[in-house]
Amino acid sequence: MFIPLWRFRHSMAPRAWALTGGVGLVILAAVMQVALPWPLKVVVDNVLQSSGKPPENALLRVFGAEGMDRLQLLTVALAGLLVFTLIYAGASYLGSRLLNGVGERITASIRVDVFAHLQRLSLSFHDKQRLGDLVTRTTTDVDYLRTMIISMMAVLVPNVLILGFIATICLVVDPAFALIALAVAPLLFATVLVYRPRVKSASRAARSKDSDIASAMTETFSSVRAMQSSTSEGRHEADFRDRNIARMNAGLRLVRLQSALSPLVDVIVVLGTVLVLWVGVGRVLDGTMTLGLLLVFLAYLKALYDPMKELAKLTTVISRGQVSAERLLEILSTAPAIVDRPGARPAPRLKGAVELREVSFGYAGSEILHAINLRVEPGQMVAIAGPTGAGKSTVVSLIPRLYDVTHGSVLLDGIDVRDLQLATVRKQISMVLQDSILFRGTIYDNIAYGADHPTREQVLAAAEVANVDEFVRTLPLGYDTPVAERGVSLSGGQRQRIAIARALVRDTPIVILDEPTSGLDAISEQYVMRGLDRLMIGRSVIVIAHRLSTLRRADVIHVLDHGRIVETGSHRELVAANGLYSRLDGIQHAPDIPRLVKPLPTAVGMTPLSTEFGTGP
Ligand code: ADP
Repeated sequence: MFIPLWRFRHSMAPRAWALTGGVGLVILAAVMQVALPWPLKVVVDNVLQSSGKPPENALLRVFGAEGMDRLQLLTVALAGLLVFTLIYAGASYLGSRLLNGVGERITASIRVDVFAHLQRLSLSFHDKQRLGDLVTRTTTDVDYLRTMIISMMAVLVPNVLILGFIATICLVVDPAFALIALAVAPLLFATVLVYRPRVKSASRAARSKDSDIASAMTETFSSVRAMQSSTSEGRHEADFRDRNIARMNAGLRLVRLQSALSPLVDVIVVLGTVLVLWVGVGRVLDGTMTLGLLLVFLAYLKALYDPMKELAKLTTVISRGQVSAERLLEILSTAPAIVDRPGARPAPRLKGAVELREVSFGYAGSEILHAINLRVEPGQMVAIAGPTGAGKSTVVSLIPRLYDVTHGSVLLDGIDVRDLQLATVRKQISMVLQDSILFRGTIYDNIAYGADHPTREQVLAAAEVANVDEFVRTLPLGYDTPVAERGVSLSGGQRQRIAIARALVRDTPIVILDEPTSGLDAISEQYVMRGLDRLMIGRSVIVIAHRLSTLRRADVIHVLDHGRIVETGSHRELVAANGLYSRLDGIQHAPDIPRLVKPLPTAVGMTPLSTEFGTGP
């Protein structure tokens, strides 16, 4: 039970004092609860039932109340009752506040740990994950874990102590009778033991169904556009209904288990009470026990069974919390696949030579790239062309070590990337992808995002060069315009220009472009291309391209097919060779002489584009 908690000790350790204080206070409250019936016994046995001078007994001796008259005894007993109650109330209030406060802090810290760890996990991990599942783990599972931690401190610890105290007192005062009172305890524990595994498995099922629902949400609402335009709402809804019913059934099973537990415990408790009353009343009648003591026993019986009931109920909370703890530990104990090798050194400022030497790679098992050899000299522009699924994106993702090669090596300035510290390598590579995702924040933040503390001048200069300035000027809030999540409030071309500005701010020697102009119309493409031209100056560029406008300008083109480089050469050479390249979409019909591009309106402050680049097919 405590093993999963132990794994979260780092989050709990800084709060050890508050935890200890909180537990101390709830223990004090428990002691007061144990003390509460005794003043009542004094009232019944010594005030109500004795005539004249109260008899001597051990309890009065303990409190120095021997020799008091009845009125004095009544006053002392009632004052005691009040004081015990006040201490009990104060301690349980403060204890519960302290523990719940600590609980919130522990959860906050665990949540950050999980988030930070998730971020560090490699793409190979995230490829396999569903977003919704990760969301439920960092939210609901962390909450369940907190409830478990708090319950263990605020319910388990004091109740186990109360049980211990009361059992001891009863055994000391009247051992035979105590054994009768405790007779049903084994029955209670047996019930709990039987229930625990069932509740746990039901919780586990419910948690996994929760993740299914969250995944359905994230998958559907991250593609609302596609869903609505293909009128597939019905299918999504049916799927959601199914998952929801599965969750409901798992929840119902848990409810059935929980509902049965409490009445079962009640029945066992009444059995115990009947037993105690039967024997106790007999003993009071034949004078072997005082009425006051019977009352104490009855009060204790309740005080005994309440914690047992609490503990039985706690079964659910603890089982649920354990399942959540396991789900969180599953994440926390996954090591990032891509880490610095021991002895990896910081990358020097790279000149930009990139080489893939005999590189093979597969995502999971089957090999996708086979013995790729490819060189990019500093400042060179190398294009990768080929049919969809040939492995082009996979090739470029190996350069910043988003994945590690299975065989061969990736070299930067002649050094194996795995011998360099990951962060220092990635800081020197910029990527502009097909569809750039922006982050929630302003346009300014989105440009500044790539670099460590760029100056305002650097950000604005990059924005100017990337043609971001041109559309930002028309926005009332300018660079402070907030961007909606994933950048949906901007057009594809505008997002690409921001991504290029981001790469410019980063100012890296190596730039990777993965079809950055695909899906753009001719005019947008020209704006983006102008930005890209500036980005490429003096840098090594690896570009995945379909468009002739890009392919024509590359120093070398590698044609990839089924994970192998099948042709290499310049555009002209490859067209002349009449191989796969010449049969790629758009290549065969392309005139060898670039088409003239209609000049852009000069009103936006741009000089007409040179005619060197066609708009592609
Ligand atoms: P291209 O960029 O040429 O279209 P990709 O590099 O995207 O090709 O994909 C090459 C092959 O690798 C495809 O068969 C694709 O299904 C597979 N693939 C791509 N990404 C992943 C991934 N994250 N996990 C598993 N397989 C992948």
